[in-house]
Amino acid sequence: MNILIQKFGGTSMATEETRKNVADKIMEAKKIYDNVVVVVSAIGRLGAPYATDSLLHLVNYKNTKLSSKEIDLLMSVGEIISSLVLTNTLLESGIDACALTGGGAGIITDDNYNSADVININTEPLMKLLNEGKIPVVAGFQGVTIGNDVTTLGRGGSDTTASLLGEALNASAVEIYTDVDGIMTADPRICKSAKIIDEISYNEVFQMAGSGAKVIHPRAVEVARRAGIPLIIKNTFNNSKGTSIKRHIGVERKKTIEDKLITSIAHKTNITQVSIKGDIDDENFFTDLARENVSIDIINIFPERKVFTIDDVCKDKVIRLIEKYEAPYTFIDDCCKVTIIGEKITGVPGVMAKIIRCLSKSSVEILQTADSLSTIACLIKEKDLVIAAEALHKEFMLG
Ligand code: ADP
Ligand code: ASP
Ligand code: MG
Repeated sequence: MNILIQKFGGTSMATEETRKNVADKIMEAKKIYDNVVVVVSAIGRLGAPYATDSLLHLVNYKNTKLSSKEIDLLMSVGEIISSLVLTNTLLESGIDACALTGGGAGIITDDNYNSADVININTEPLMKLLNEGKIPVVAGFQGVTIGNDVTTLGRGGSDTTASLLGEALNASAVEIYTDVDGIMTADPRICKSAKIIDEISYNEVFQMAGSGAKVIHPRAVEVARRAGIPLIIKNTFNNSKGTSIKRHIGVERKKTIEDKLITSIAHKTNITQVSIKGDIDDENFFTDLARENVSIDIINIFPERKVFTIDDVCKDKVIRLIEKYEAPYTFIDDCCKVTIIGEKITGVPGVMAKIIRCLSKSSVEILQTADSLSTIACLIKEKDLVIAAEALHKEFMLG
């Protein structure tokens, strides 16, 4: 029995018309595969009544009195509504479908609310529906604890649900449907010259996603890689081929990336840079940050100075914490991180020099940098994002 997992994002679910496109994609898949399992995100984006961000706005999320467990219950509702609405569309089109919550689909997680890890999937409920010839429509981004409390898997987590179901059901492939033609050399919203990538390795996409490219969740890539299942990113609104993510990429693609050091550029916004002067107790300070659940990035520690970045939303929490240590500090608000990704940059001299030359030619100030084996990230002001992304895209010949 061959099984295909199809996941549809918020924009694909946005209107009755777009949901008809979704139904078409499901019907096409049903002609090729014995079985199709559908995973859905909440309907629409911020402003749409049941989008995840809209639900969070209802309770003034940044200052809410609700617990993280209650926030998960609230957020889970968006995907549940979406699965019911799509099931209705499918039934109206004569397709035998059945809506399920994450828990109903057998997804069991730990109790790390807002960012839970799946610990087990009981495939029985899904197999039962498939054996009855039905199409299960699973609410993405959620599961339940062993004690039956609802959890969510972290923002963008419906992709993860799709990969995890693919792994549990030993699916032939996982298709992620969204509003772009596939994975591109940069986010087309900020880089007009971005080009579609036909084939790409799990590792490259994992680095892109981890560096902020929203098109797929990094955990979904990790799970698909672990299970060896091809992931295909496609557009719900046309028939373009999309991007195939797999272990071994084709010879033609290999030839083109061998010519290029860099395969893509990713970015992350809403970042604040924190600098603390003076000799504070590092161990206690960073332990306090962890205890407050503040995630830090681009970290430089010197004897008399610490510099790191945080998400904007954590700023008030971090101020309260630093003030306990009575050390002078400064913040730079409205920053963003631009990352170049290329599996081949390790040990190649001159990549940083090229970035610095390119950004200074465009009058973009670099505030801080970080690098790994296959990435170099620059912290810059958010106002410079578009110009920096376009300039780097051109410099590394990605267009
Ligand atoms: P969905 O609701 O379908 O999950 P997302 O908003 O999570 O959609 O992801 C799709 C968006 O990802 C695109 O609209 C695009 O702006 C953004 N994106 C960021 N980086 C890339 C990239 N490298 N290639 C394609 N899209 C990207
Ligand atoms: N609706 C959730 C979010 O906006 C999950 C998802 O779309 O994948 O984060
Ligand atoms: Mg998404």
